[in-house]
Amino acid sequence: MAEAVIFLGPPGAGKGTQAKRLASELGFKQLSTGDILRSHVARGTELGRLAKPLMDAGKLVPDEIILGLIGEELVAMPDPKVIFDGFPRTLAQAEALDRLLQERGIRLLGVLLVTAPQEELVRRLLGRAQQEGRSDDNEETIRARMVEYQQKTQPLVDYYARTGSLRAINGLGSVDQVYQAIQEALGVRA
Ligand code: AMP
Repeated sequence: MAEAVIFLGPPGAGKGTQAKRLASELGFKQLSTGDILRSHVARGTELGRLAKPLMDAGKLVPDEIILGLIGEELVAMPDPKVIFDGFPRTLAQAEALDRLLQERGIRLLGVLLVTAPQEELVRRLLGRAQQEGRSDDNEETIRARMVEYQQKTQPLVDYYARTGSLRAINGLGSVDQVYQAIQEALGVRA
């Protein structure tokens, strides 16, 4: 059966790490819009050239572009089993995703809201900057990404709370502890 999980949360909460692990253990495909965009930037595509300055400024990429990317990915999947990581990030994206899920008969297993205190998020992002060298992991961009999150993505917490899909996950523990909380929230203890 076609199924999906959404990872929601501020930058640095650990969504990517957890989404990768959950995807590999459930046999789902992880769809990270950030990873897809970074691959476009690395390949120097037209989309990459458009997205790079926005990403480097900590701003969101326009909804139409993101929805085009997601649409392309889903069209290529006959029986989608997907972990959305970093998508949706705006109300317009969430509404479009609802329509897509409905059209394709994809069941939403849950929306995982992974959070941690702001100082911890910034500490992790600055640490990742040194390890991975992501060009948007510097102090100024991190601040802008936090503001974008609060203004545009935070409203999705209420949106999914209303539909009863939201599961709050404490992102502060070790990777294993957080993963265990996620498995319990979804009822998929492996
Ligand atoms: P991430 O790897 O998820 O932190 O995304 C890195 C950057 O890519 C973000 O700061 C945005 O500029 C852009 N981005 C990724 N996903 C989205 C999305 N769903 N909507 C708009 N912009 C996005």
